[in-house]
Amino acid sequence: MLLFSDAAAVFSEIEKRSGRLEMTDVLSTLFKRTDGKEIDKLVYFIQGIVAPPYEGIDLGVGERFAIAAIASASGYPAGEVERQYKKSGDLGDTAEALLSKRKQTALSTTEMGVTYVYDAMIKIAKAGGQGSQDVKIKHLTELLNNAAPLEARYIVRFVLGRLRLGVGDPTILDAISVAHAGDKSLREPLERAYNVCADMGYVAKKFYADPESVRDFHVEPFRPLIPALAEREDSPGSIIKRLGRCGVEMKYDGFRLQCHKKGKEVELYSRKLERMSPMFPDVVAEIRKLKCDEIIFEGEALAFDKKKGRYFPFQQTMHRRRKHGIDEASKEFPLNLFVFDILYLDGADMTGDSYRARRAAVQRLFRGNVLAPSQMKIVRTSRELKKLFDDAVSSGLEGIMAKDLDSPYTAGKRKFAWIKLKKSYGKSVDTIDGVVVGYYLGRGARAEFEFGGVLVAVYNPGRGRLETVAKVATGFTEDEMVELREGLEKIKTKAPPLNLDCKIEVDYWVEPKFVVEVAFDEITESPNHTCAMHDGKGLALRFPRMTKMRPDKAENEITTSGEVARMFEIQRARS
Ligand code: AMP
Repeated sequence: MLLFSDAAAVFSEIEKRSGRLEMTDVLSTLFKRTDGKEIDKLVYFIQGIVAPPYEGIDLGVGERFAIAAIASASGYPAGEVERQYKKSGDLGDTAEALLSKRKQTALSTTEMGVTYVYDAMIKIAKAGGQGSQDVKIKHLTELLNNAAPLEARYIVRFVLGRLRLGVGDPTILDAISVAHAGDKSLREPLERAYNVCADMGYVAKKFYADPESVRDFHVEPFRPLIPALAEREDSPGSIIKRLGRCGVEMKYDGFRLQCHKKGKEVELYSRKLERMSPMFPDVVAEIRKLKCDEIIFEGEALAFDKKKGRYFPFQQTMHRRRKHGIDEASKEFPLNLFVFDILYLDGADMTGDSYRARRAAVQRLFRGNVLAPSQMKIVRTSRELKKLFDDAVSSGLEGIMAKDLDSPYTAGKRKFAWIKLKKSYGKSVDTIDGVVVGYYLGRGARAEFEFGGVLVAVYNPGRGRLETVAKVATGFTEDEMVELREGLEKIKTKAPPLNLDCKIEVDYWVEPKFVVEVAFDEITESPNHTCAMHDGKGLALRFPRMTKMRPDKAENEITTSGEVARMFEIQRARS
C-alpha cells in the first residue's frame, strides 16, 4: 500500500523542480512503489482530477467549505484561517501551517493510503442534495484530522482544483515507462493507448496488470479519444510543399463534437471531452437514426441563420442556445453538423486507416441535411488550394483545413496530418491561441471595470513549460471584460503557475485555464518575454489584441512556442 504521506513528500519534491527530466525521475520512483490497485487513483491525483472530464464528477468544494474544514481540524476559528489565507494566498499552505500548530489532536488517527484519500474524495464529490455541503465538510474534516501538515497542503489544493503540480501528461507517461522498463521505451505504446481512450488512470491500471496490453488498445464507444489537432502554415504554397496532393476541407467556425453511438445510446463530447448531449438534443436524435449499430465520428456543429442564409459563427451559435433555450433554439436556429472524420464503425477501429479511406466512409454514411459531410476537394497545386481558400473566406468561413491523404488519425498536434490556413483579421498577420497566466487592474477609464488586460502565454511541449508572449490590453468588449474579470478573480493565486517561465510582473497571477485568441501585427524579439527564448531574447506579439475567448479549447491545446518561432522565421524571410 502506498501511503499518502509518501505521495505528498514526492509532490513537494516535484514542486521544487522545473525540468521535465528531473520530474520524470522523481515521479518514476513513486510509481515503482505503487501497486496495480492504486496506480489509477495516484495518476488521477497527479492530474488534479478525480476522474476523466466526461464522467462529470465535480468535487464541488468552494473555499468557504474548505476553510470550515480546516478550522475544525486545526482548532483555530474560521476567522483566523481566513486571516492567514489572506496573508499566504494559498489555502493549502494555510492548512499546512495551521495543522502544524494544531490546537487539538485527534483522539486516534488512521494511516491513510492513496486509495483511502481517493475514496474520500469520491465521497465528497458524490454528496449531493440537501445538506450535501455539511457532508462534504465532514468528509474533508475527517481527512484533515488524519493528515500530517504536508498531506493537508495537497488535500486542500486538490479539493479546490488547485493542485498545480506542473506535471504534464507526457511526463506522467514517461515516468510510468521509466518505472517499469528503466527507460522511455514504453512511452510510445502508452501514449497511443492514452490517445485512443483519454483516460490515463485506466491506461495505467491496464498497464500495471499486463504491460503488453497497452499495445493492443482499441477505440470503443463511450471512451472518447484525444482529438486530432491542426498545425498551421501561412500560405497555400507552403501547404502544398509539405503535403503535395492533399484533401482540402472547408474550415467551419463551429463547435467540435465527437459523437459516439451504440444501439440507441448516443453521447457527444466537446474537444475538452466534456459530455455535451444535453446541449444538442437535435443532433443526438439525428445520430440515433443512423443505420449502423456502433460508430464514432467527428464533426463541427453550426447554427444556420435562415434570414441571412449564412451560418452563425461559434460564439453566436452557443449564445443563441443559452439565450433562447435549447429546444426553442433548435427550431429557430437549426443546427448542421459537418462531419469531417470517422474513427470507428461496427467493431472496426478506423484510426489506423488513411484519411483517404476514412473520408470515403464519411461520404458513404452521411448524406442527410443535418449530418452532412464537410465540403472537401482534392487539390494538386497551390493555385487550386488558394482558390478554395478564397471561396471559403468569401462565403464567411474561417479558412480551410488541408489533410494528408495517407495519414492515419493522429491525436494531438502531430506530423502535419492536418494543416489550417485561416483568414487574417484586418491588418494582422495571424492569430495565436494562448492561455491567460495573470491580469492587470484597470487604470484611468478602465478603472470602472477594474480590469486592465491579461498576460498571455503559449506552450513549449519539449520543455513542458508555459512561456509568455504578450500583454494584451485591447480588443475586449465590455461583456468580455466583465466575464474575464469575474472568471479570473475566482482562480487568482499568490504565486505564478509552477510551469510558467516569466520575467514580467502582473497585478494577479491566475491558474492557467482561460484560453483566448489574440491577433497581432507582427512578431518581434523582446528581452521581456520568454517564448522560444534564445540568447536572452524571447519572442513577443506586436500590437496584440484579443479577438475572442476560446472556452472550448483546453489549456494544453494552445499554440506552441515552436509555432510562434516558425511564424517569426516566415515573417523574417518575407521581409
Ligand atoms: P483551431 O481551433 O483554429 O486550431 O482549428 C482546429 C479546429 O477547427 C478543430 O478542432 C475543429 O473544431 C475545427 N474544424 C472546422 N472545420 C474542420 C474540418 N473540416 N476538419 C477538421 N477540423 C475542423
